[in-house]
Amino acid sequence: MKKKYEKSVKILGAGVSGLSAAITLAWNGIEAEVFEKQPHVGGRFIRDFQGLQNYGYFKGDQIQEFEKMRIRIKPYMHLKRAIRFSPSLFNFEVVTKKIPIFYLVVRGKDANSLDSQLAETAIDLGVKVHYNSKINKNAVDIIATGPHKATILAYGFYYNDINIEDATYMFLGSRYSPGKYLFAIPGEEKGEAVIVTSCGVDQGITYTRLKKLLQKAIDEIPTLKDIVDGSNPAREFKHFGCLDIPNSAYRDGKYFVGEAGGFQDAIAYFGIRYAINTGYLAAQSIITGKNYDTLWKEALKPSLEFEAKRAWKYGKMMDKDLDNMFQFIIKKYGPELSLEEYLSIRGKI
Ligand SMILES: Cc1cc2nc3c(=O)[nH]c(=O)nc-3n(C[C@H](O)[C@H](O)[C@H](O)COP(=O)(O)OP(=O)(O)OC[C@H]3O[C@@H](n4cnc5c(N)ncnc54)[C@H](O)[C@@H]3O)c2cc1C
Repeated sequence: MKKKYEKSVKILGAGVSGLSAAITLAWNGIEAEVFEKQPHVGGRFIRDFQGLQNYGYFKGDQIQEFEKMRIRIKPYMHLKRAIRFSPSLFNFEVVTKKIPIFYLVVRGKDANSLDSQLAETAIDLGVKVHYNSKINKNAVDIIATGPHKATILAYGFYYNDINIEDATYMFLGSRYSPGKYLFAIPGEEKGEAVIVTSCGVDQGITYTRLKKLLQKAIDEIPTLKDIVDGSNPAREFKHFGCLDIPNSAYRDGKYFVGEAGGFQDAIAYFGIRYAINTGYLAAQSIITGKNYDTLWKEALKPSLEFEAKRAWKYGKMMDKDLDNMFQFIIKKYGPELSLEEYLSIRGKI
């Protein structure tokens, strides 16, 4: 029996989670309005490149998972190679011929970005999106405003003239990304890429120091040096993210979704899946009258716990332990693993 929601549902924030909630409500005939503080979608992101991974706790195809929720996303790249480096630069490559390892999406206000795609779908379904909005938090039903506190910091360089292959590059170890990781991702157009390093806030590192670590990595790691080949970044950016899984994400009559609710992947900070899922589930709660906390706990707690356990395990590993792990993998499988082989050992060693 569907619960009738008489008034229009008000959502604060036109990001991934807020727009996913709006789309789900609209598909179910419920009026939704989104209030965004910026004059456009995309929030804090300016032509950033992000990945949807198909190899985490959820091992299926993420685009298909979202399609089942009637949330359609068109990535700019289906990425089939991921190269991993240990602190001492032992490395192996994960390749796939079938389901991509990553789908890549643009973030920000560009016409084909993930944010613009979701906004277009929502508006086509009749959702009203108000930009430059100054509406008060107390006047809305769903809070979708992105990270409410910093638990991770990231510093990145955006390039538009470098030579990067169609692969993601991930570097582990305390030298360049204490407690987290450094990555390079090819952008949408030829020559475009982002190279980003990150750290946990518990490391007590500032953005200035993080930028220095990123530059040092590019100067010292031969693979990155080759990719960048003396080019200067066209732009730099700094962000923070929030992992703060709540006991309840329904407080004072409001649904907290995405990073506003503290929903994040503890291991790699791939938050898009959680943002879409919590937006969808908050809307489902409004549509069906089911308890939101019950819905997200049933759907997401297993993966949240799995990732938290792995993050804890990796947090305790020293650089030499990571090196040993990489050497073990390379000895067993050689320098190239299929996605199936990688999945069979991931989380077990
Ligand atoms: C450097 C970096 C790289 C990342 N890479 C990946 C990746 O590869 N894969 C992945 O899955 N995730 C990645 N993430 C995480 C991912 O971007 C987030 O988890 C996801 O965007 C969270 O969605 P959200 O809806 O909670 O917030 P957002 O998408 O940030 O949206 C929040 C929106 O709310 C608006 N807003 C804020 N305050 C107000 C207010 N008071 N009133 C009105 N509007 C407001 C903002 O302007 C914004 O539009 C990355 C994050 C960072 C920082």
